[in-house]
Amino acid sequence: MTNAATSQTPDTPPRNDCGTCTYCCRVMKVKELNKPANTACTHCVEGSGCTIYNERPDSCRQYECLWFRSQQFDKPLSPALRPDRCKVVMGTINNGNEIVLYMEPAHQTAWQQPAFSEALGLFVTRGIPVYVSDNDQLRRIF
Ligand code: SF4
Ligand code: SF4
Repeated sequence: MTNAATSQTPDTPPRNDCGTCTYCCRVMKVKELNKPANTACTHCVEGSGCTIYNERPDSCRQYECLWFRSQQFDKPLSPALRPDRCKVVMGTINNGNEIVLYMEPAHQTAWQQPAFSEALGLFVTRGIPVYVSDNDQLRRIF
């Protein structure tokens, strides 16, 4: 995130880890806006940010993908796995105990790229279930 007007991230504390990524604003649903998944939000300027940042819906305020969150970890997920680069938005369900991968129809196999092997291996080693979201259906892959 390059500035305070970018993408679906929480209000506090302000962070710029998203850089120019705005990919969740495309891939994820926003119920308050009736925005379906895999459709560009009309309020998003791709690579720049949200044009209604101060008035954006609560679900946008609360959203953090796992890549974004990991940037505060001791071992953050790699720059190559930033969602706009790898075409996968990693999220969690079940209080963070399970991983869900969200991809556009054109990139359904993006999780199979080599850059993901290490991250997926870590989840598998720790016994963390990993799913792919496909039209709102979760399909377990590990
Ligand atoms: S997908 Fe993640 S890194 Fe990209 S804008 Fe959304 S929260 Fe930020
Ligand atoms: S309202 Fe703003 S933060 Fe929410 S999806 Fe649209 S561009 Fe992204």
